[in-house]
Amino acid sequence: MSLKRLFSREGSRKGVVDYSARRSMIETPPPGHLTDRHDPHKLIWKPQSSKGDQADESRIPFFNSGFTTCPKCGECDVWRFEETAGIRENGDTYGTETFRCQTKGCKWKTSFKYDNGVPYCIHFEARAWPRGIHFYPVTFMMRWCERHGLDNLKHQVFSRNIDGDAFLTLYHSGQMKAALNLSSKTVSKVKKALEQRDGALLTKTNKKK
Ligand SMILES: [Zn+2]
Repeated sequence: MSLKRLFSREGSRKGVVDYSARRSMIETPPPGHLTDRHDPHKLIWKPQSSKGDQADESRIPFFNSGFTTCPKCGECDVWRFEETAGIRENGDTYGTETFRCQTKGCKWKTSFKYDNGVPYCIHFEARAWPRGIHFYPVTFMMRWCERHGLDNLKHQVFSRNIDGDAFLTLYHSGQMKAALNLSSKTVSKVKKALEQRDGALLTKTNKKK
């Protein structure tokens, strides 16, 4: 065996020891790098960042919709991309989730940082955010009605332009039944929907993947 071959063998064996499966599991690669050695699952590795629309007025309702409904056009056609920034020894990952509306001409985009190690709220930027229908625009309220089987009400929400704020004002003033000409049955259905533990949310959020 030539000296050269012996050398290269040594080199490759050293490589195996340095980058064993366990090590590659817990090692965070340099920012922006995508290599088999660092990441056998070929994730996209990038440092945590904030992109697109970062205004609370749009991000709070988007978050409250369970990341489903574009706050600009109201359509539910939002793509999600994930970029991992790092992984800890216990397996918790952290990174950035980017969302982009696919509606033609809308182009709305935002991002949320996440950390699987944060209990109850992996999207930690939203930890202190208010939750509930109070912050829903009309398009969201229509979905809320749909979700709770309130189809007549959905029509009224649309035709009378009732957002989450207006909806709750009507409801709490006791004027809802008369103002919207609803049956007692519908009103009690609204009450039930609002009282559900997650009744104010369109979909549950903060699910651990
Ligand atoms: Zn949109």
